[in-house]
Amino acid sequence: MDYRAPKGTADMLPETARAWEHMQRTAQELFARYGYQPLYPPVFEHTEIFARGIGEATDIVSKEMYTFEDRGGRSVTLRPEATASIVRASLEHNLVPPGSVAKLYFMGPMFRYERPQAGRMRQFWQIDAEILGAAEPSADAEMIALLARYFETLGITGTTLLVNSMGDDACRPQYREKVRAYIREHSEQLCEECARRADTNPLRAFDCKKPTCRDVMDLAPKLRDELCRDCAAHYSAVKGYLDDLGIAYVEDPSLVRGLDYYTRTVFEIQAPGLGAQNAIGGGGRYDRLMEQFGGPPTPGLGFALGFERTLLVMQAQGLRVPAPATAEVYVARAQPEVASAVFELAARLREAGISAELDHQARSLKSQFKQADRLGARLALVVGPDELAGGEVTVRAMATSQERRAPLSGIAEVLQGLLAEG
Ligand SMILES: [Zn+2]
Ligand SMILES: [Zn+2]
Repeated sequence: MDYRAPKGTADMLPETARAWEHMQRTAQELFARYGYQPLYPPVFEHTEIFARGIGEATDIVSKEMYTFEDRGGRSVTLRPEATASIVRASLEHNLVPPGSVAKLYFMGPMFRYERPQAGRMRQFWQIDAEILGAAEPSADAEMIALLARYFETLGITGTTLLVNSMGDDACRPQYREKVRAYIREHSEQLCEECARRADTNPLRAFDCKKPTCRDVMDLAPKLRDELCRDCAAHYSAVKGYLDDLGIAYVEDPSLVRGLDYYTRTVFEIQAPGLGAQNAIGGGGRYDRLMEQFGGPPTPGLGFALGFERTLLVMQAQGLRVPAPATAEVYVARAQPEVASAVFELAARLREAGISAELDHQARSLKSQFKQADRLGARLALVVGPDELAGGEVTVRAMATSQERRAPLSGIAEVLQGLLAEG
């Protein structure tokens, strides 16, 4: 039997899992201050949710989805991203009745069949936030500020915020035709895939990482110059709000993100030291997505941030998530016959809010002390028949091996006092 995890997946071992939990806690606290509520959709959906929501011509839908038929013959797909599910759930449960705004977030695994590399896994973890019902540019700026603030709160420095506008139905179709024509003119200088994109999804050629394609696309027509009046006003208001908050950004007219559903504002936060895969979070506005799902016209916008790459950046910047001691207090037994008293005492301490550990392997007292050191325990309680008979236990400071007697009744309070002393 092959006991290794499937290619592109990884067990999240305790140190990494602690970092993930730290990132989740940080998000929960910060997002709550911005008025967000949690919503957890299922890990898989009917395939058409993603095919329709993300777009058939995207790389995600055409090559990267984990799609399979379930035992009832339905085509289902492990979610490759979060927004489509959130929009589907909002419609199903009428979370955004006309005139209202919903702010939602969730955290969990996503699945894409890609070539695994550093910071890119087939099962990867994201934190996702969405605002539904808000059309004003202040919502875009607030969302961008939240993402920037999040990375700041984690202690990450040196990031770059990129912003762009993708236009809307009034101005993007003409622009897309211009890019299509441009790609056809330059198809010989572009990679095969980009040349083919003229027919399917011309704007995606801006995403190509090949240097030759980048050089060609740098000179392609820019949507910035083709925005309709409303889109231009919206974009300029978003930038104005960011200026008001003192948030630095770079306008990147080639930023298009890999999804079809974006309209107007798109943004991305890049971190140093990650090579070509340098985006740690990003998102944008998707004012037509709800309608594509058959719902009423409802503006929306959102972002996703990736755990794996963010962790790489935190590690590169020396940001450690401190490991809490597995046990503050180790309850040791001097003799086997006091086992049940030790067992009961450890339970009492845990109920009092103290992390406590005890021996489950019939170790000697000496080896119990070694174990206490390994677990990072600051105090050990030594329980022996004589002490018990006198209603007392021995409290040992692990660092100094100093011991003192303490009454068994009220021992939790004594320990809390000693732990608080430091
Ligand atoms: Zn290319
Ligand atoms: Zn427009």
